[in-house]
Amino acid sequence: MTNANNRSTLFDPTTTDLLADVYRAGNDAPASLFIGGQWRQAQEGGTRTISCPADGTTVGTVSEATDDDTIAAIKVARETFDSGVWSSVPARERGRLVIGIADKIRENKELFAAAESADTGKRFEDSLVDMDDIAAAFDHFGTLIGHQAGRVVDPGMDNVRSRIDHEPVGVVGMVTPWNYPLLQVAYKVAPAIAAGNTFVLKQAELTPHTAMLLMAVTKELGLPDGVANLITGAGAACGNPLSTHPDVDMVSFTGGLQTGKLIARNAAETVKRVALELGGKNPNIIFADADFDVAVDNALNGAFFHSGQVCSAGSRILVEESLHDKFVEEFAKRANNIKLGGPTDDKAETGPLISAEHREKVAGYVDEAREHGAKILSGGRAATSEDTNGQHGTGQSDLGAGFYYLPTVIDGVDRNADMDFVYDEAFGPVVTIETFRDEDEALEIANDTIYGLTGAVFTTDAGKAERIVRGLRHCTIWINDYHPYLPQAEWGGYKQSGNGRELGEVGLAEYQEHKHVYHNLTPTVHGQFGQQ
Ligand code: NAD
Repeated sequence: MTNANNRSTLFDPTTTDLLADVYRAGNDAPASLFIGGQWRQAQEGGTRTISCPADGTTVGTVSEATDDDTIAAIKVARETFDSGVWSSVPARERGRLVIGIADKIRENKELFAAAESADTGKRFEDSLVDMDDIAAAFDHFGTLIGHQAGRVVDPGMDNVRSRIDHEPVGVVGMVTPWNYPLLQVAYKVAPAIAAGNTFVLKQAELTPHTAMLLMAVTKELGLPDGVANLITGAGAACGNPLSTHPDVDMVSFTGGLQTGKLIARNAAETVKRVALELGGKNPNIIFADADFDVAVDNALNGAFFHSGQVCSAGSRILVEESLHDKFVEEFAKRANNIKLGGPTDDKAETGPLISAEHREKVAGYVDEAREHGAKILSGGRAATSEDTNGQHGTGQSDLGAGFYYLPTVIDGVDRNADMDFVYDEAFGPVVTIETFRDEDEALEIANDTIYGLTGAVFTTDAGKAERIVRGLRHCTIWINDYHPYLPQAEWGGYKQSGNGRELGEVGLAEYQEHKHVYHNLTPTVHGQFGQQ
């Protein structure tokens, strides 16, 4: 996976045909900003080196944008939208292009997955699955827009026709995170262009390459220049105009709660439409009557998939009191056996965290738990090179070379004892275990959070499962499963997990205006004003 020059051999953007213009146009520095159909360097000439979190190898160098670049992109997106070059294309044709993107991603699946794994350090196998999910999201919105009908309203009068037309919102500013880089982008880009909008996307600064590949694909498919625009760079330095600039009609954000609040505050000044997909502290409720093996296995998947860097991670396990000891013994035993490794390590079950800084943050939650006297039943520390051939190593990946953190199970938690780590989103391989006595208490604990993203319940009693579903103030609920989602089904947050929905039918409506047209077929003079 590495070579003598410390370059990642998984993905090399400089030799990737789709990105040839990024390097050709860039001369001494790459030109990774995609504005008006052209690859451009950052105006101030800034660059950023992208490294693979699994082993520190260099993936590539990209342009580091500042506000001026973002404003230039917004100007192009505005002019393109106002020209009508895309919004006037019949919906079904726009849908065909969106489906074309799905086809291109499938055609280039290995390339896209390699880029995603190189940037994030996640298993190549997992990235391949992500690419299928991403293509499915483009398929969904491409198909949906082709079948969407306006709505006829019955006005209750023979001489009046009333209808609802769908129109694009206009220029959409998009800001996305690093955990599922292209998936989060797809949930926004697919409905936005299907609906006829133009957009400026700011991809997370650590994971730019799949968004760059996506821009190249839109160009190849003939999406008019200026519809799709990409900025690569860090949030505060280049992201602000997407929520403040008056030429942006809507801002769609996926990321952390604090950034989401800032974006919502900024957007209020020009009353933009705001869509927020934020964090979660997701309860996984396990009743004593659950199928034990199913519950344990899915709880491990919920907590440790992608090393817990998943907004919907089941990081808060609630287990019925009578099952606690048996559950914890088996759960911690298996957590202690989880194998860590890099993207192409065929024995690895999950990978590294995204950065040293993020690993520090995760470690901080565990330190807090330790200080409060909670019991750390597995993990509880960063992995080192010495772990490479140990319990958590495969022998293939040097665990000291990447940002690995051992899967961590925390028991002995008292939620009434000022333990913030029980409520905060660690966004890493850290799970807490609490107990409950009955359905009411399970619900009380599960809803005792500012978040409301996902939750799960494991039981063989269907009635009990439905009662729990009804009581949970979270948006996506799994019964006897964890993590699957469907592009046809809405995704989003209750409470401080967000305020919009992605996917499903609502995920398209978010990017549309609904215009009411009232047509009087027999116009009359009313004579109310000024006729004396
Ligand atoms: P983050 O908020 O730090 O960053 C997200 C994006 O916002 C990045 O692109 C970043 O550069 C940008 N940003 C930061 N400051 C900005 C500013 N002032 N203006 C404009 N952009 C700015 O979050 P993160 O650490 O990258 O992502 C992790 C978070 O994302 C977690 O809380 C996770 O739960 C959440 N998330 C939610 C969902 C969901 O569907 N609800 C999905 C994935 C991730």
